[in-house]
Amino acid sequence: MSEDKSLNFIEEIIEKDLADGKYNSISTRFPPEPNGYLHIGHAKSICLNFGLALKYGGKTNLRFDDTNPTTEETEYVESIKDDVRWLGFNWAEELYASNYFDQLYVFAVQLISKGLAYVDDSNSDEIAEQKGTPTVPGKRNAYAERTVEENLRLFEEMKNGKYEDGAKVLRAKIDMASPNMLMRDPIIYRIKHAHHHRTGDKWCIYPMYDFAHGQSDAIENITHSICTLEFIPHRELYDWFIMQLEIFPSKQYEFARLNMTYTIMSKRKLLRLVNEGFVSGWDDPRMSTISGMRRRGYTAKSIREFCDKIGVARRENLIDVGLLEFCVREDLNAIALRRMVVFDPLKVVLTNYEGAGELLHSENNPEDVNGGSRNIPFSKELYIERDDFMENPPKKYFRLAPGQMVRLKSAYIIQCNEVIKDAAGNVTELHCTYIPESKSGNDTSGIHVKGTLHWVSVSHAVEAEVRLYDRLFIVEDVDGAEGEFTDHINPHSLQVLPKVYAEPALKEAKADERYQFLRKGYFCLDKDAASGKLVFNRTVTLKDGWAKESKKK
Ligand code: ATP
Ligand code: MG
Repeated sequence: MSEDKSLNFIEEIIEKDLADGKYNSISTRFPPEPNGYLHIGHAKSICLNFGLALKYGGKTNLRFDDTNPTTEETEYVESIKDDVRWLGFNWAEELYASNYFDQLYVFAVQLISKGLAYVDDSNSDEIAEQKGTPTVPGKRNAYAERTVEENLRLFEEMKNGKYEDGAKVLRAKIDMASPNMLMRDPIIYRIKHAHHHRTGDKWCIYPMYDFAHGQSDAIENITHSICTLEFIPHRELYDWFIMQLEIFPSKQYEFARLNMTYTIMSKRKLLRLVNEGFVSGWDDPRMSTISGMRRRGYTAKSIREFCDKIGVARRENLIDVGLLEFCVREDLNAIALRRMVVFDPLKVVLTNYEGAGELLHSENNPEDVNGGSRNIPFSKELYIERDDFMENPPKKYFRLAPGQMVRLKSAYIIQCNEVIKDAAGNVTELHCTYIPESKSGNDTSGIHVKGTLHWVSVSHAVEAEVRLYDRLFIVEDVDGAEGEFTDHINPHSLQVLPKVYAEPALKEAKADERYQFLRKGYFCLDKDAASGKLVFNRTVTLKDGWAKESKKK
């Protein structure tokens, strides 16, 4: 975080708390439910929670909110840990809400003993009906009159497995007339005979979110419990449990969740994309998951930078995905190795070139003085991009055309003399001459050309597959758009080029390196690459093509 930036509202609260001596140091937590892979919205929450602790010298716990036994899986736990580490953060402790099931049970018994909780045999419809509406107060039923002893016995029996799912619930006894519906005797425990990924079959009653989250925060002495705006109505209940149980006074603060254009950000919807085959998996490079973005070639640094740039808002908004792509480009421009790759080849024969084994040199990255250089073999037969040639060019066309000159990047100036065609009239080959005195770095030719093309030597080129991605959705506000979100999927979000021609340096491509294919965009090696098979993902284009599109409109 840059120093000259003004504080966000959570930083203001923390600085005041520290100045007032309310706390000596702060503690935050990141509390994912392990029911899916993390997405860019979670990255926002991670950067915020871990970032605050780093800034103020505190600590952050990673706490899995695994109170719902039926949807959580160990695979998700592992992926979440990978993602947080990859983003560059270290948690103080790895914890699970399920670690606290014994303690939470004791808390519930305490509430019952104080006459502040009761066992209710009503079914969910009855409970909903008795709750009233925001304008009509609810009514307590006869179960609320049970004695402390009876409630203690029934709750223990619930724990011991005497009752079926749904037969009874434990409710906090608060206020059936509260304007906050969540305060109208909320359910705090339910019966669920289900296997839990960590506690196995030990429990058949499970605490509700509201009875687990704040207490978990308190057990861990979390000072600032940060969540998204939809939890505002839960805050009253959060404080009530902490007050009644007389435990560490953790405090909840809410910020606006991240919403982004052309993107969905709900695990439930992301899961549907996977299950219904719209993408190849959670780490499909088009997914807004952290694993998808990582596979696509986004860097952790660029995601952190993005989260910092968008700041912490108190009102919902929709962030332009272009800003994320801007951050990705900015980082990749600084670190990517420059390479030449021809996607759609047109052969160029240099009729006057008789050299053999000539090696040219080109810098790896003009943005990095310590980036070094690589060798590029030059030869008589080269590939250039088919659309870098026009037989009948318009004025101000600076690429190759009959009689015209261009520079080949890091090589020589060439001139096109003859266009060879097949019987159908398609251009198959260009015969050119090169200017020996025009070698890059030692050009004494005195010739000035405006166009520079990328190229590869035919006999040295290595073949590769390239995958080009576009936005997965064609509407800006996917969640706000009419119909099913799946109605708005971009049918052209993936284009595979099975055979492109890369300069030989890319034979040594590594998973952790980033590349700029000149004039083509930023790329990284995909996990589908194997020895002898190169597969590259386009991470992002060099410029924002969508911005241009919308200006045209
Ligand atoms: P989803 O709706 O995608 O399932 P969730 O909120 O249910 O998300 P959790 O695993 O419960 O997912 O969230 C863990 C933390 O990440 C919570 O503190 C939550 O507020 C935060 N979070 C989730 N989505 C976003 C988002 N879009 N922007 C910011 N924070 C988010
Ligand atoms: Mg959730």
